[in-house]
Amino acid sequence: MKVTNIDTFLVRVPLVKPFKTAVRTVLSADSLVVRLDCDNGISGWGEAPATVAITGDSLSSIDAAIKEHLGPFLIGRNLLAYEEVLSGLSGVMVGNTSAKAALDMAVYDCLAQNSHLPLYEYLGGADGELETNMTVSVNSPEEMGEDTERYKEQGFSILKVKVGIGDIELDIKRVREIRKKAGNHIRIRLDANQGWSPKMAVRAIGQMEDEGLDIELVEQPVKAHDLHGLKQVTDHVNTLIMADESVFSPKQALEVIRMRAADLINIKLMKAGGIYQGLKINQLAEAAGMECMAGSMIETHLGITAAAHFAASKQNITRYDFDAPLMLSKNILNGGLCYQTNKIHLPKEAGLGIRGIHTQ
Ligand code: MG
Repeated sequence: MKVTNIDTFLVRVPLVKPFKTAVRTVLSADSLVVRLDCDNGISGWGEAPATVAITGDSLSSIDAAIKEHLGPFLIGRNLLAYEEVLSGLSGVMVGNTSAKAALDMAVYDCLAQNSHLPLYEYLGGADGELETNMTVSVNSPEEMGEDTERYKEQGFSILKVKVGIGDIELDIKRVREIRKKAGNHIRIRLDANQGWSPKMAVRAIGQMEDEGLDIELVEQPVKAHDLHGLKQVTDHVNTLIMADESVFSPKQALEVIRMRAADLINIKLMKAGGIYQGLKINQLAEAAGMECMAGSMIETHLGITAAAHFAASKQNITRYDFDAPLMLSKNILNGGLCYQTNKIHLPKEAGLGIRGIHTQ
């Protein structure tokens, strides 16, 4: 199964409502889609969104990385020797994890199609159903409370609340309002997206614990590079702390594990450089007794289909943040994953289960 051709094209899907975090505001999902063709007639799909504030990757840098470096490496390679192909791919150039992830998911799509299995089964999983959380963007406490009521009515049972903008009193007010509107049966996760200092985080989380706001976990309270600060927070609160922007690669995961800087790790294909590296992070975490969440950037149904197959295949991945397609005004896929409010159903067809892409 040798690679004969790689094509890329741009897609832009407007969001229904702006997505706001402590580091950025997103109005549309702008992605580069990749199609990889093999000499046995199998084609695989991949996607990489622009996330300059997180990965440093823009649409043009992703396209150039694929056309000038990563694509030429893959052309003519036999994908059945995927160990050599995918470890080689990560060594072609430093960084550029989004471009690598798009190609990696296309490679896995081909491998699973060649084995006549849905990708999650090819990777060892038995169940193609997941429950995703729904994100409440960071806004005024009142607006976040209204969003909470709406998502609760729609049937979501886990909310991921963006905080980390303004002073911590405002963040605590936001969470108080959300817990009031959510009632006691909704799981609430927070994501500060690096917006707090270690001391602010300890104070804010401690206050929420004292008020009984019942927070399941707090994601990336402090700056990505500040592992000592992350550890300080983890050591001084009872609430679970999750590393997100601090962990891109397996090596960074190893460092967080070694320091015990966090309790949990959020794996995203765009940070890791694809499924191959994501699996390594999960295995390291599992060996250390640390569970993982699988999350995503603002990607279309394509990237999330790949991420959901990955997540569904491993028992140590216990939490899922795959709500990005629910924020989009349309689905570009023919095939792929389906949503039933918070429930995700993966297709039973081989590979990612994508039959085609609507570009218009
Ligand atoms: Mg996060």
